[in-house]
Amino acid sequence: MYLYAVDENIISVNNLSKQYKTEQLSGIRNISFTIRRGDIVAVIGESGSGKSTLLKSIFGLLQVDEGEVLFNGKRVLGPNEQLIPGHKEMRIVSQDFSLNIYAKVYDNIASVLSNTDVRSKQEKTEKMMQHLHIEHLRNKKITELSGGEQQRVAIARALVTDTSLLLLDEPFSQVDALLKNQLRADIKRIAAETGVTVVIVSHDPADGLFLGNQLLLIKDGSLIQEGEPSFVYNHPEHIYTAQLLGNAVVLRAADALKLGLSSAKESVVFYPEWVELKSGWNSKRYEVQDVYYKGFYEELLLERNGVIIRAIQLNRGEHKKNDHVQANIGRFLEF
Ligand code: ADP
Ligand code: MG
Repeated sequence: MYLYAVDENIISVNNLSKQYKTEQLSGIRNISFTIRRGDIVAVIGESGSGKSTLLKSIFGLLQVDEGEVLFNGKRVLGPNEQLIPGHKEMRIVSQDFSLNIYAKVYDNIASVLSNTDVRSKQEKTEKMMQHLHIEHLRNKKITELSGGEQQRVAIARALVTDTSLLLLDEPFSQVDALLKNQLRADIKRIAAETGVTVVIVSHDPADGLFLGNQLLLIKDGSLIQEGEPSFVYNHPEHIYTAQLLGNAVVLRAADALKLGLSSAKESVVFYPEWVELKSGWNSKRYEVQDVYYKGFYEELLLERNGVIIRAIQLNRGEHKKNDHVQANIGRFLEF
């Protein structure tokens, strides 16, 4: 406990840059942030934004051009500086899973544990298979599994050791929608139970909002915003972030003015759920142009003075196409 109090950061990334020689504007540029012990950090960005490069650099698989990664205050060495690339106290689950494809599921997981205590080895392996709902696959070879099943085995294998930092590269990419929610919840629960610090890289903003207690947004190799997910969502520093995280409505100031919103900046931005709807005929009248069914809610396309916005309606069918509604844009951001 004493050590934790001295430095609660397990990882410090300082001015990290890595460019691939063959391609301009590849890799990552001047990235800095810290990770607190026990946090679940979600790194979100589009495909090609540099997420895997960042993860591999943290683990010591890439020789970085500039800057450094500190693990518990000690610099992580790159592949040119040690015989076996990677870091002993971290585990990485990469997009190719790196499983032994000819071995059985059980052995893939158990083989990373030491043989000194066979009983404990069995118990830990069993428990981890239960955690990730793969007990029934125990005797199957990896080649006999679906992509999603392989992904769960790879995560089990990484988690079974008492690692202090787990790096997951797109851990849900092979998993279908139903299992995805379960796997997200499993990772969150296991992290809470074991205290392991987790860094998850994903192109899906939902992973960042649901899973992380810290969110990092990467665009074109740069870190554009970081913070608690709900804070980043509510206080995006860039229009891009609001669009990525919440499919925000973006209006030019001139159009916003036609809706009664005045702004000295170029753009007015708000999330559809910030629009409050009421039935009625007052001056804030909009016409419902279309209704999109979204499961437990509907998205309404609303028009007023030639400007189109989107709003959320939870009571299905309350407002229908061609209805007139009163819409109040309760909150908006200016950029
Ligand atoms: P992400 O994981 O977010 O999809 P990557 O970190 O894999 O992004 O890649 C970031 C950028 O660097 C991309 O433009 C990609 O094409 C480039 N890149 C990645 N790996 C290499 C490599 N080995 N050689 C050259 N360019 C690469
Ligand atoms: Mg990647």
